Order: sequence, then structure tokens, then C-alpha cells
Amino acid sequence: MRPLAEAQRHVIGAVGRLPAIEVPLAESAGLVLAAEVHAPHDIPAFANSAMDGYAVLAADLIELPALLEVLEDVAAGSVPSRAVGRGQAIKIMTGAPMPAGADTVVQVEHTDGGSDRVAISVATEAGTAVRPAGSDLTAGSLVLDTGTRLGPAHLATLASIGEAQPRVYRRPRVAVFSTGDELRPYETPQLAPGQIRDTNRLLIQESLRELGAEVLDLGIIGDDPDQLRAVLADAAERADAVTTSGGVSMGEYDLVKEVLSELGGVEFWQVAIQPAKPFAFGSIAGTPFFGLPGNPVSVFVAYEQFLRPALLHMMGSPRLFRPRIEGILDEPVDTNPEKTVFLRVGIAWHNGDAHARLSGGQGSHVLSALASADALAVVPAGVASINAGEPVVLEMFRWPEERRLDELEA
Ligand code: AMP
Ligand code: MG
Repeated sequence: MRPLAEAQRHVIGAVGRLPAIEVPLAESAGLVLAAEVHAPHDIPAFANSAMDGYAVLAADLIELPALLEVLEDVAAGSVPSRAVGRGQAIKIMTGAPMPAGADTVVQVEHTDGGSDRVAISVATEAGTAVRPAGSDLTAGSLVLDTGTRLGPAHLATLASIGEAQPRVYRRPRVAVFSTGDELRPYETPQLAPGQIRDTNRLLIQESLRELGAEVLDLGIIGDDPDQLRAVLADAAERADAVTTSGGVSMGEYDLVKEVLSELGGVEFWQVAIQPAKPFAFGSIAGTPFFGLPGNPVSVFVAYEQFLRPALLHMMGSPRLFRPRIEGILDEPVDTNPEKTVFLRVGIAWHNGDAHARLSGGQGSHVLSALASADALAVVPAGVASINAGEPVVLEMFRWPEERRLDELEA
């Protein structure tokens, strides 16, 4: 059996980055910057008011109350037509450009709100409520680094500098199909004896969409070698990566394994993890192939440990793996000391500590316990049991990734 981290390093080392392209900003969420972005000019481009109030000279506010002449009103979107001199003020709204001469804004609450003359009753230091030009970003400075995975705040920041076509790594297109004669589409109301609903395809597809990949849904393929061969070849041609579930373990009908062995380029691994020990990885006609196990919870674990990090790497992200935190296990568990075991656990937070308990049955078919889990408790190989109250590592699969390849532990 291969240790998990070694298998992960192998997978990451074997998949390449996708090409960089320019995409419209509104279509770039979830994608990763392929180049540094620098500010073309100062942001804000002009000094402006942070408050509704009066733009004045702080030197006029030594003796209070100060009575000043109001020259004009300036709203956000317009520009002052006059400069402010001694004894003068301009009524100004939040976001409006600072008039020449003024160095301070007195918020309206500290005044009598006057129109022709204003009385100011509160001492205000020079620079108060003024947002200087460049106080967010200075011209030429680094805004976002290569490798940044774009989220809403990144998009808004790029919008603020007018970067409408960021350079990003292309969105991966991933072909997905399920294998197994027992599988029927999940919409099937009445199953015949021996049949089950296909859950893996939806699990993988929605995980891929959440990641920002494009899905090529190739449906359910029965345990038929000719059909499998044809679908695999088609998938490899049309997609950047191909992923299947089922058929990679030891059973007589594990035909994915048989067909892939003929094609060459794919290896069958026994990874020292539980669940998700059997895993096939390699390439078909140059396209990375991920043969996930059949049991749904194994599919999820294999997706999390291999496919998701590999796709993030293809997408240009240096951050590949989910964050891990230390929690406390609130009940005793026995695990397999030969493998890294991923327990499905729910978390209750007490005084900032994450207290974990099994979220249900730990069989690799028990989807309901996965659905009610908040994290995977990671019990490393070499550990046979954990007592109640002992620390445990929690992999936060609902949190975005943050660990890099060089931060990988078993
Ligand atoms: P296999 O590795 O193909 O022998 O599958 C292992 C187990 O996972 C069997 O119980 C299968 O019925 C089940 N399984 C395989 N594929 C799926 C799927 N797409 N949805 C739900 N269960 C599946
Ligand atoms: Mg099968």
C-alpha cells in the first residue's frame, strides 16, 4: 500500500497546468490568476470625503464654535468649482472630491448643518474624514499575485482598477461517468431488485462545479468492455481530465480495470487510506485519468484527496489541500493502524474548541453520515485508537483549500 502523501505527491507531479487565457472579469470567479496584477493608477484616484459634512481648513477650528461661509454643495459624482480659503467651507457628501485648499472634513453631526453659513462646535484635526488619493492602492503597486484564486472580493478589487479581462488559467473541463450494471439514474422511481440509484455522478459533478470546473456528463456505463472503451476514448479526447467511479477494485466485474489495463498508462493503486483504498490514476491519450472507487463515501474521500488537489494544481493554484485544525474527539474510537483513516464527524464548538463526534455509521456506503458531517477526522497510520477527550486532526472539507504541496503531512 502507498502512503497517502506519497500518492498525492505523485498525482500532483503528474498533472500539468492548463493554458493561461484572458476571460471577462464576471466569468473569472473560482479561476486562478496566471499573472501579477498591478494598479494602473492610484485608487482612489482623487482625495475624497469619507463623511457627509463640510470641507474646511483645520486651522479655522482653533476657536470654537467656528462660524464659516459655505461656498457651495458638492455631491458624489460632481466636482467642486471653488477652492476653500480661510473662513470658508464647502458642504460635501461622502465620496465627493475634496476641494482645493481644504484639508479636513467635519461631519455634519458636529455642525449646525447651515447652508450659507455653518457653525462648527467640535475640534477636528487636519486630515480627518479625508481619504487621500492612493490610500487603497498606489499607482504601480502589486494588487494581486499570480496564483490567487479569485473570489468575490478579488473580483471587486479588479473591478476597482478597471481590470476587465484578467489573465487566468483556463477552466478545466472534466468528463464524469459512473460504471456498474446495478446503477440506474437517481430519478428512477421504482428500482428492480438488485438495482440502486447512481449517487456518485451527482456527488462528483456538484463537487466539480463548486470548484469551478466545467462538467462533461457522460452518464452511466454498464459493465460492458466495448462500451467502456469507446466512452473512455471519447472522454479523453473531449476533456482535460476524466473521472469515473466503480470498477477499480478486485471484483470479477471490475471491468474499468480490465479495459484500462489494455489501454496502458493507468496504474492501479492501493492507497493506505480508509475509506478509498483502491484508486486508479494515469493518463489516457495524454489526458489525466482518475478512477475513483465505487462506494460513495470512498468516492468523496478520493475526490477530496486526489482529484480536487490535482484540479486545483491544473488550475494554477499553489494551495491544493483543505485546511486542518486540531480538535477534541468527544468519544472513543478504534481505527485501523495500517492506514490513514478518515472518520466522518460532526463538530460542536465550545469556547473556541472544536469537539468532534462520529456523525453516523462509518461504512463506506453510508452517505447519510457524510451529509451530516462537518469534517473528516484524520487518524494517521500507526494509531489504533483514540480515547474520549484526546486531540484529533480535523480536515475541514467545507472550508476552502489552504495547504500547499510542501505543507502536506500524512
Ligand atoms: P465497485 O467498485 O464497482 O464494485 O463498487 C463498489 C460498491 O459501490 C458497490 O456496492 C456498488 O454498487 C457501489 N457503487 C458503484 N458505483 C456507484 C454509484 N455510481 N452510485 C452509488 N453506488 C455505487
Ligand atoms: Mg461496479
